[in-house]
Formats: sequence, structure tokens, C-alpha cells
Amino acid sequence: MTANSLLPLYTERPDREGRDRLEILTALIGAPSFDPLFRETIIKVPQGHPVYQWECAVGACERVRSGGTDLCSVHLQQWGTAREAGTTRAQFLSAAEPLAREGYDRDVPCQICPDRPASLRTELRLCQRHHHSWKYYSLNRADQVDFEQWAAEQTPHEGDGKCRVVVCPSQANSPLGLCS
Ligand SMILES: [Zn+2]
Ligand SMILES: [Zn+2]
Ligand SMILES: [Zn+2]
Repeated sequence: MTANSLLPLYTERPDREGRDRLEILTALIGAPSFDPLFRETIIKVPQGHPVYQWECAVGACERVRSGGTDLCSVHLQQWGTAREAGTTRAQFLSAAEPLAREGYDRDVPCQICPDRPASLRTELRLCQRHHHSWKYYSLNRADQVDFEQWAAEQTPHEGDGKCRVVVCPSQANSPLGLCS
């Protein structure tokens, strides 16, 4: 069955058009020649994909390529300096230190609230509410603050559920029901 053979059907039964198109799409996506990677609702291209390479050329660097080159922004800058100093590309690539992914993955939970996402504004892995309380608490106690002790005394807040955007897999981070 091809898309063309269904066209007359649409004119006779306009109500079927949406359903038929969906059936064609489902059949095409289900075909063995279709890359299973793209069958998911949210497509995550893994590092090292043979066709869609997005990662920095420095081995094990987890950051994305930048500025139309095959290096992340940090390594691109380092490479510029190294090249001016006479370093070869091969020397640079074998000596450069790989970098970890920037920030947290979207859905890392707050270390106190299992149902609330950690804020990207802090590396302490705290939701926005706990991040604010920690900042307020530590404000005038510069010398005597003990994060572990403070964290042990906190109670979890209720989460705001899943993000209301239909295809979004993240947790909402406010009562509006939207992720960050
Ligand atoms: Zn890099
Ligand atoms: Zn929290
Ligand atoms: Zn979202």
C-alpha cells in the first residue's frame, strides 16, 4: 500500500483522512528499515552515533560540538591557543582533558524532595525552594554553616507533577505545572 493509492479515498471519505495518514505513518515507522532510534516519542541520539555525531572530538568529552566545528566551546578555545603555540591537532587531541556534561540532566531530583526537580542554578542538587532556604540560612553564618547538617534537618516538599506539555518528559518545577 502506498500513500498515492489512498488519495481517492480521502475525497470520498474526508473523515478518514487523519486516521489513514496515521495508519500509513505507523506502518512506515514500524518497517524493519526504519531506525528504531527514531521510533521513540522523544528521540535521544546517543554519544558515538555513526551518522548523527554531536559530541566533541576530544575522546570521552561529553559536551556538544560548537560553532560548526567538531569541538565543544571550551576545547575549541583551547585548540585556538594551542595551535598558535605550534601544537599539532593530534598532540592537542591526545593531551586535552575530557569535560563532563554541563549542568545536571533535566530530571535529577532534589536531594531532599524525591518529587521535585533539582534547580539548574545550583550544583547542590536542590529544588528551587530548598535552594532559597539554604541561601537564606547560610547568608549570615558564613563560618558556621554545615550543609550536611542543614540538609538532614529539612523536610521534603510536595512535587508539582509532570510538566503539562504533552511530549515533555520532565517534572514541573512550579505550581504552574511547567518544567524549567
Ligand atoms: Zn570538549
Ligand atoms: Zn527540595
Ligand atoms: Zn516541560
